[in-house]
Amino acid sequence: MESILVLTHVDESGSALSRASLEAVTAGKELATRLSASLAIGIVAADADAAATSLATTGARLLAVSGEVFSQARYSTDAAACEALCRSAQPTLVLAPSSSRFARVAAGVSHRLGGVIDTHITALGGTDSVEGSRWFYRQRVEAVLSRTARPWFLLLDAGTHAPFAGAPGPVSIQPVPVDPPAPRTTVAGFRTPSKDAETIRPDAEMLFVAGAGWTKKQSDGKVHADEAGHLITDFLHASGASLGSSKSLVDQGGEGQPVLPFLTHMNQIGQTGATPRHAKGLSTCCHGEEPHVVGWRFINDRRAISLDPNCGWTRGKADVVYVADAFKVMARVNELLEKGKDSF
Ligand SMILES: Cc1cc2nc3c(=O)[nH]c(=O)nc-3n(C[C@H](O)[C@H](O)[C@H](O)COP(=O)(O)OP(=O)(O)OC[C@H]3O[C@@H](n4cnc5c(N)ncnc54)[C@H](O)[C@@H]3O)c2cc1C
Repeated sequence: MESILVLTHVDESGSALSRASLEAVTAGKELATRLSASLAIGIVAADADAAATSLATTGARLLAVSGEVFSQARYSTDAAACEALCRSAQPTLVLAPSSSRFARVAAGVSHRLGGVIDTHITALGGTDSVEGSRWFYRQRVEAVLSRTARPWFLLLDAGTHAPFAGAPGPVSIQPVPVDPPAPRTTVAGFRTPSKDAETIRPDAEMLFVAGAGWTKKQSDGKVHADEAGHLITDFLHASGASLGSSKSLVDQGGEGQPVLPFLTHMNQIGQTGATPRHAKGLSTCCHGEEPHVVGWRFINDRRAISLDPNCGWTRGKADVVYVADAFKVMARVNELLEKGKDSF
């Protein structure tokens, strides 16, 4: 009989579980129900009491490692906390969010427990057994993994489960004592770019992709890179969308051609770029070629604006294609957003 432990940690507020942790809770609950397995949830926080109230309706046994030293992400203390939670709960299956905080300690913790680990899990299946799915070769091949070794650690990719959202209530928490190793790292503070400077937004509802067409000569024979930059940043500002790019557009800076200054290779979507998860995607001035579209695998509703009625998007790669001038369309969309009329 399996027993499940979900490892969680708090977000920057310190008093609520991170979204990825709540997704892992959903996965744990579903798996426990399907396998008729016991469910425990372990929390790592300076003070777990406030965060734990959101788990009142899970019906799970709650354990927590608390203390000021656990408020910051740090390998030594996070690994010690997770190890202590695992030793206390003695699970056969450990689910954890693939957050930067847990992704770096999970393999070490699994090793300390004599367990095995798989990362980038996107789904948990199987009827009587546990099967973890993950993608290989740039999201082209999906593998379904099962293992007999226990404990089996499964790091869950963010955005693959709905975050658990039960009514908060009083809870009973079992404190798990940890003698933390003397920290060699201290966190001096956080420096984050302003909201507008940060264009890659994994939690955004929509992915907006800019293609090389934005910096190509337009019908008047001229390049309008400045106007393109304003249209794109205005749209990102009004919609909160995440910004992606085709490879051609980010590459052409190296060729001395006009580029959009806020784009880097980090924005690139595709076979040699990122494969983000968003509910909707809008591609603009981009041809929709296969190596680019590979990165759209996890975009549910795909739309594109291209002048070319024969582009890859119109050949079955998008759900809706607007054969139109993206400069005009986005100017109108921005106008409507400015007026507060969400028209799409
Ligand atoms: C091994 C390999 C890996 C690759 N990996 C990637 C990858 O990870 N990601 C990636 O993106 N590419 C990748 N590529 C490159 C990919 O094949 C394409 O060359 C690239 O995606 C094309 O970019 P684009 O559509 O922006 O540019 P273009 O092909 O130049 O298309 C520009 C489009 O903009 C349209 N357009 C111009 N003006 C307007 C306007 N005013 N309104 C509307 N539309 C307009 C044009 O009609 C045209 O369709 C890879 C290629 C190889 C060989």
